[in-house]
Amino acid sequence: MHRLTKKEFGGESLWLFFDVGETLVSEKSFHTARNEGLFQILKSRKEGLSRAMFDGACRRAILSRPGGEASRVRAIAREVLGPSESYAVVEEYNEKVGKSLVKLFEADPNKMFRPYPEVNTVLEDLSARYPLAVIANQHRSVRKYLENTWGLAKYFKFMILSEEVGFQKPDKEIFQLALDRARVDDPSEAWMIGDRVDTDIGPSRSLGMKAVRVLHDSETSIIPSECELEVPDFQFKDLRPLTSLF
Ligand SMILES: [Mg+2]
Repeated sequence: MHRLTKKEFGGESLWLFFDVGETLVSEKSFHTARNEGLFQILKSRKEGLSRAMFDGACRRAILSRPGGEASRVRAIAREVLGPSESYAVVEEYNEKVGKSLVKLFEADPNKMFRPYPEVNTVLEDLSARYPLAVIANQHRSVRKYLENTWGLAKYFKFMILSEEVGFQKPDKEIFQLALDRARVDDPSEAWMIGDRVDTDIGPSRSLGMKAVRVLHDSETSIIPSECELEVPDFQFKDLRPLTSLF
């Protein structure tokens, strides 16, 4: 692959910012457990609900760009049961599924979230040449997993987690916070690497940053780009091409 020149970067000093979920760490097992829990709740409220109907509703909910988890659950419940029960389903989901997922995660974080196999090699290579940082919509507890369990924190100059700072992607403020902390005056010297067009690619590009979309096998990889700002500068199946690009 053609390695970008300093001129193509748009500057001498380059920063690379990374999303976490579905970019560095697979959430597939978490998503499977989460969907199974929701399926059971909906099945108890709607006799004869088939797995295929449920899977279709999940897919359409993702395509509707729900943002947070409550909106995603509500969208699925609305389609399966109608609007009147959707809020009650979110409550039941938070109570039953949400709490049991936290317990499962804390008992064995590697069971639910797993760094993609290429992550260490790629971050080791890039961090030797560029400053790296994290901009992620994550609970504050994820910091200790990044530091200890997965050993990824050592590659980053800093990590901005939404719950700690009170802003979340796609809020512009969380990206601006990262640029300020990196002392990047010209956003075109910063790249965002993430899986989602609506929370990673679009908002970073609208600030003048550049962006790489990494698809992996993420469920969010089905969300299409809807405007030019959401079209990434590069799109890859996994992280490996980054070491040739930069
Ligand atoms: Mg992500």
